Amino acid sequence: MNIVFLGPPGSGKGTQAKILAQRKNFLHISTGDLFREEIEKKSELGLKVKSFIDEGKLVPDNIVLNVIKRRINLSSNILFDGFPRTIEQAEGLSQMMEEISKKIDIVFFFEISDNEVIKRIVARRSCPKCGRIYNLITNPPLNDEACDMCGVKLYQRDDDREDVIKKRLEVYKIQTSPLISYYRLEGIFEVIDASKGVEEVYLELERKIEQKVRR
Ligand code: AMP
Repeated sequence: MNIVFLGPPGSGKGTQAKILAQRKNFLHISTGDLFREEIEKKSELGLKVKSFIDEGKLVPDNIVLNVIKRRINLSSNILFDGFPRTIEQAEGLSQMMEEISKKIDIVFFFEISDNEVIKRIVARRSCPKCGRIYNLITNPPLNDEACDMCGVKLYQRDDDREDVIKKRLEVYKIQTSPLISYYRLEGIFEVIDASKGVEEVYLELERKIEQKVRR
């Protein structure tokens, strides 16, 4: 089964993707995480994408599609998190999948209000070592601002500052939200109430995946 997580920044896609990948054995492909790793390594790709990310803009489609092409292997359970983000990327993905005789089975749309998203992003912190995501208010670490698993200090993403968040939401509305009607037409679209808590959202995802498997 191959799944896409679609939704605004801060809607919980990354948090749920990490849990689902671990519990159900999916290959988790997060373009945002991949780009952040490349920036950290100061690689050629990292240098190319940094300014787009820092300004809250999307990385150009051709760069994103190249990165994905190199990652889609023969694994049959792929979870795309934060990709596709434009119609051109969605078309590129469907072509790449067709070439390897695969398809997207479900697109989960994480529905949530702008106000809730801004509140969540401002309080979001991540572990630089294992990537686990926390929220200082709703899902805080046990000790201060350190990761429960690794013990290292959590960090706030540069693009999680309030001015950049506003830009990211604007970009989402213009460039990404058209994917809602695109995938709705394909009949593989499922809405998730992303305003709920982490475990509740996870159970809804799991229930919908099991329904799909049974059909
Ligand atoms: P995310 O971690 O998914 O919130 O992504 C962080 C940033 O990485 C976004 O604001 C974009 O600048 C860039 N990015 C991640 N995925 C994509 C994508 N599929 N297309 C274009 N830019 C992306």
